[in-house]
Amino acid sequence: MPSSPPPAATTGPRWLRFSEIAGQREAIWRVQAAAAAGRLHHALLLDGPAGCGKTSLAVALAAALSCRSRPAPTAPAPLDAVLQAPEPLSWPLDACGSCPSCRKMPDHPDLLRLSVEEGKTRIAIEQVRDVAAEMAYPPHESPCRTVIVRQADRLSPEAANALLKTLEEPTRGNLVVLTTSRPAFLLPTIRSRCVRVPLRPLPPGTLRRLLARTFPDASDASLDLAAGLSAGGMSRAKEILAGDPGAAMTAMGDFGRAVDTGDLAGLLAAVEALGPDRDRAAADLDLLLVLLRDRLASAAGQSTLLGTTASSAVAAFARHPPEAVAVEGGLVSEARRNLEANANPQLTLEWLATACARAVARARRGSSPDG
Ligand SMILES: [Zn+2]
Repeated sequence: MPSSPPPAATTGPRWLRFSEIAGQREAIWRVQAAAAAGRLHHALLLDGPAGCGKTSLAVALAAALSCRSRPAPTAPAPLDAVLQAPEPLSWPLDACGSCPSCRKMPDHPDLLRLSVEEGKTRIAIEQVRDVAAEMAYPPHESPCRTVIVRQADRLSPEAANALLKTLEEPTRGNLVVLTTSRPAFLLPTIRSRCVRVPLRPLPPGTLRRLLARTFPDASDASLDLAAGLSAGGMSRAKEILAGDPGAAMTAMGDFGRAVDTGDLAGLLAAVEALGPDRDRAAADLDLLLVLLRDRLASAAGQSTLLGTTASSAVAAFARHPPEAVAVEGGLVSEARRNLEANANPQLTLEWLATACARAVARARRGSSPDG
């Protein structure tokens, strides 16, 4: 396939064609295969960690469907071949990047976007009503209008029910693409109306490469940390780099040592230094899971996710007995679920710290009869 000209990123905001999206080949392949077979469902649910490319994929699809100078979609190569093909990969269904339609992306009149408005926590029913009213009319100029609902788990209950109606009674010429990192928080009735397209966390190597391009001045150690700590999500990796990855690791080290000694004042001080709000607390828990995983991996002589850059924080967990570390991992996951279910972040972290300290103490008593 001939290489196509680059998208019109020089004039408008940057958007990516399928061929430019990092990772996610399997998800793209699923969409391509369905489109080529004429079976692209009217509602897709893209789910994967924050910043793994869900919105990019949705916009690439909208652009491809609206592009005026692309050939009719043909079936992509078999998945195995696609997964093993060298970069860059070209796709049979992709936007040209330079036709009049592509030049309007991502502000194309047939690309509508719904997301949580600034200062709000939910997508409101009025937003859904506005979009639904427009969906009753044919697209302006494309064969298909694409409606992207970002963070669909944040639809208010009323908004979710209004959206459900549009999914239950689809009108021709509309494609709805929902994105979420928390599919369990969608109405089951909405989930069941959508074809799910799972996206994977970006591998640390891919993430690191992307980060190095975005943050050319970041140190190697910071890039390693951000790539290792972000659980495969570019958004999280950028947050880590924009913040202070070194400080986050120091706070984790303090937490690991406080759990080790079990001293209550130390535990509360360590928790104090962690995330004051829900998002930070959730991020801290993700980081904690990676550290605990690395602690077990290094004990077993296996390679660690964080490498040597995080060795001082990993060392803080080195004195935790391996049996305790396994229990701690379960406790962290439980705390993470509680946070998602709206538990108070501070109380959750305090509960976690004391429960971990108890697990470590219990494992130390270990083989004692009452242990
Ligand atoms: Zn085009």
